[in-house]
Amino acid sequence: MKPTVVIGGGIVGLFTAYFLHKEGTEVIVVDKGDMKVNCSTGNAGMIVPSHIIPLASPGMISKGISWMLSSKSPFYIQPRLDKRLIDWCLLFYRNSNAKHVQKSIPYLKGISLFSKQLYLDFVKAHGNDNIRLQDKGLLMLYKTAEGEREEAEFCHVAQESGLEAEILTIGDIEKLEPNQRVDARGGIYFPEDAHLSPKDLYIQLKQYLFDQGVILKPGVSIEGFEKGVDNVNAVITNEGKIDCDQVMVCAGSWSDQIAKMLGFRLPMMGGKGYSFELPNTPPLMQASILTEARVSQSPYGNKVRFGGTMEISNKSEEINLNRVRGIYESIKAYYPDFKADFPQESQIWKGMRPCSPDGLPYIGKAPKWKNVAFGAGHSMMGLSLAPATGKILADLSKGKEGIVPLKGFAVDRYA
Ligand SMILES: Cc1cc2nc3c(=O)[nH]c(=O)nc-3n(C[C@H](O)[C@H](O)[C@H](O)COP(=O)(O)OP(=O)(O)OC[C@H]3O[C@@H](n4cnc5c(N)ncnc54)[C@H](O)[C@@H]3O)c2cc1C
Repeated sequence: MKPTVVIGGGIVGLFTAYFLHKEGTEVIVVDKGDMKVNCSTGNAGMIVPSHIIPLASPGMISKGISWMLSSKSPFYIQPRLDKRLIDWCLLFYRNSNAKHVQKSIPYLKGISLFSKQLYLDFVKAHGNDNIRLQDKGLLMLYKTAEGEREEAEFCHVAQESGLEAEILTIGDIEKLEPNQRVDARGGIYFPEDAHLSPKDLYIQLKQYLFDQGVILKPGVSIEGFEKGVDNVNAVITNEGKIDCDQVMVCAGSWSDQIAKMLGFRLPMMGGKGYSFELPNTPPLMQASILTEARVSQSPYGNKVRFGGTMEISNKSEEINLNRVRGIYESIKAYYPDFKADFPQESQIWKGMRPCSPDGLPYIGKAPKWKNVAFGAGHSMMGLSLAPATGKILADLSKGKEGIVPLKGFAVDRYA
């Protein structure tokens, strides 16, 4: 029997390999990077069933335009005459409406809750000492009246859809954050959310797969396919050909390039973000999003990680220190007594979120090719949705369907 090749060893690829291996499939994971640092290793680590509103939603366009005017703002599109970018922006614009949001909610809710359960199962099976999953909810802090109105609306939508969500006063917030003064008007608390250490999860999962005999090939780039009539027979890499039974494409922001090699369109842009870790004294306790600043705060005992910004840019390696300063300045704005030094450039992590133009991932069979499936485009929720995506792809590879509704994630929706 030939192996199944997983293209991309980010968190989605690793969880896909994990569930394929559990099904008894022989797996090879190839990644053009080093499989040490990527978008999956320095994110905020949040598992977010609360995130039922896709990125493409009403108000995002006008907010985006106003944010474009500030060099420290949380959103930026690097202007350029690029057909790929223009097509993506037009689709994003077309999807930023209430109908799309309503249609997306059941899909995002279904897959998110399923994924959270898979994380809890993972912890039961493999322990929690490394990944430090804290099932303590997520707090969305707001400082302004506009923020309060938006978050209250979000809270209402979440409750309507059956999720647990609560509006908290500053008094309630003080109980969740007993060690630090919080300068906010209030917050929304989502008790079903959680957070973990993404780097430690990545290291543990990689080691587990290695120990189980899954072949991991860092530094190997996919350059093409050997195609039959409606099957892919082999992947062609910079190091030669690998014959395969099936192919799972989990190539993050670069998945559109793989789709192109397979002859169809998969609109995707990289949304660059930054994070950095600081000493956490006296410790922040509650994973939070500082909503007006679009900054995440993830505490891990004596360390805390702050992350944010979304730069739609093709310069994946560059660090824009102005945007990092925007994240840094928001810390004082919400936690006035928190002592934080601006991080050195070597301490700043960057990652390219794989962004589809409607805010929904692409999960399922590829058009044209019977033995190819995609799990990509999870944008701000790749860590959160990785276990579910991996399980769905492993099930599909065995001809099983139906755990959660998948239609909204169709890979061929723009093909
Ligand atoms: C600041 C920030 C904070 C975030 N916080 C959260 C959070 O709290 N919760 C959450 O759920 N998500 C969060 N995210 C998003 C999350 O990090 C991503 O959605 C997720 O990491 C995407 O995983 P992936 O496996 O799809 O892609 P990646 O991690 O990018 O992996 C894809 C891999 O494919 C490889 N590849 C690409 N092309 C090829 C090729 N041709 N051949 C071989 N290999 C190839 C790449 O080298 C790469 O390693 C955050 C992101 C950022 C930037």
